[in-house]
Amino acid sequence: MSDAREDDALIDALPDADILKALSRHVARGGGPAIGGARLRHVKRRQLLRSQVVRFTERRHETPRTAFGTEDLSALPLYEGTITDHPLPVPEGPGRLTLIRAGSYRPVPCPCDNGQQRCAGCSGSGGHACTCRNEPPPCDVCLDVAPCAQCAKTGGRRTRTTKARPAATGPDATAPGARPITCAVCGTPEAACPRCAGRGRIRCPHCAGRGRETCARCSGRGVGTHDVCGGKGSLTHWVEGTVEYAHETASLSLPRPYWPDKVRERLTAAARWQPRDVPPGGAVPPGVDGEHRAAVAAHLARGRVELSRRVTLETCPLARVELTDDPNRVFHVFPGACGLVVVSTLSDRLKRRLVAAGAVIIIVLALILWLVG
Ligand SMILES: [Zn+2]
Ligand SMILES: [Zn+2]
Ligand SMILES: [Zn+2]
Ligand SMILES: [Zn+2]
Ligand SMILES: [Zn+2]
Repeated sequence: MSDAREDDALIDALPDADILKALSRHVARGGGPAIGGARLRHVKRRQLLRSQVVRFTERRHETPRTAFGTEDLSALPLYEGTITDHPLPVPEGPGRLTLIRAGSYRPVPCPCDNGQQRCAGCSGSGGHACTCRNEPPPCDVCLDVAPCAQCAKTGGRRTRTTKARPAATGPDATAPGARPITCAVCGTPEAACPRCAGRGRIRCPHCAGRGRETCARCSGRGVGTHDVCGGKGSLTHWVEGTVEYAHETASLSLPRPYWPDKVRERLTAAARWQPRDVPPGGAVPPGVDGEHRAAVAAHLARGRVELSRRVTLETCPLARVELTDDPNRVFHVFPGACGLVVVSTLSDRLKRRLVAAGAVIIIVLALILWLVG
């Protein structure tokens, strides 16, 4: 019940009489007609609230680690058991601690040959059989279809299994329509493909006809670096505990802005926000409007990894006022440094009318242009 009474007090924070007085001053200053006789048509009050919680947090993690070779960790502090139970002094500010679980440090030799292992790509042989081994690749000019006009005509024996020679290169041999040359198979002059000389096959460009390629993985050495130990021949295992301290900021602004930008700017610059004391436990302080209490409670809730916090929470009442005899404006009233501040904006009704008027003007202009044309 005490909360409800508190809320009533807040709603009364901007009494109608004070609002009317402030509006009169505002309108008179703008040279407008006096509104003494005007009646408040509609007054809607909301409580504005803004709050920031800066939590000093601590997060602890435990990770199994492995390093190549022998790792010197003697400079790092030790902890017993689990990192979450390890007592530590709370530091002044953010930072990160790295610790080693006592007894977890374990250097082990790797079962490889001092960091080397037989190459998995070639099983240690240093090379691979080339795909050309069974058959040399076909000539890339005649495509092994018509290497020699005479051989094709007579069905002459083409001893294709004879070794493929290095293919002739250069424009004379590879240009379309290059002159035929003497066939190396049947001996007919000016009858054979200038690149393969009638053989139909060329020497393999991958292995230069040797039938064997060097292993790319080990460059032909047959051994390579052992991936598991990074070539060090040993490994070090340990369990690492890390503790991270950080400032984490959470901001809250209520209600979600439903007022125009012009009002928000003035609220930021000129409003007199009332600070509210938040109890150390994070309870919602008295004076927070009922509609905000659930959101504020969630915002102030104690974090699981929170060591300490700094909290600010401020409120400010805002009234949105419509006047009976001024339907084109909406007035936003809130307390400033010296008395109530009034910010006026166009009413939705006037905006709609302006849009409608604009549309009418465009139609009339279009009509005139049409008539003139
Ligand atoms: Zn290899
Ligand atoms: Zn031939
Ligand atoms: Zn050819
Ligand atoms: Zn080859
Ligand atoms: Zn190894």
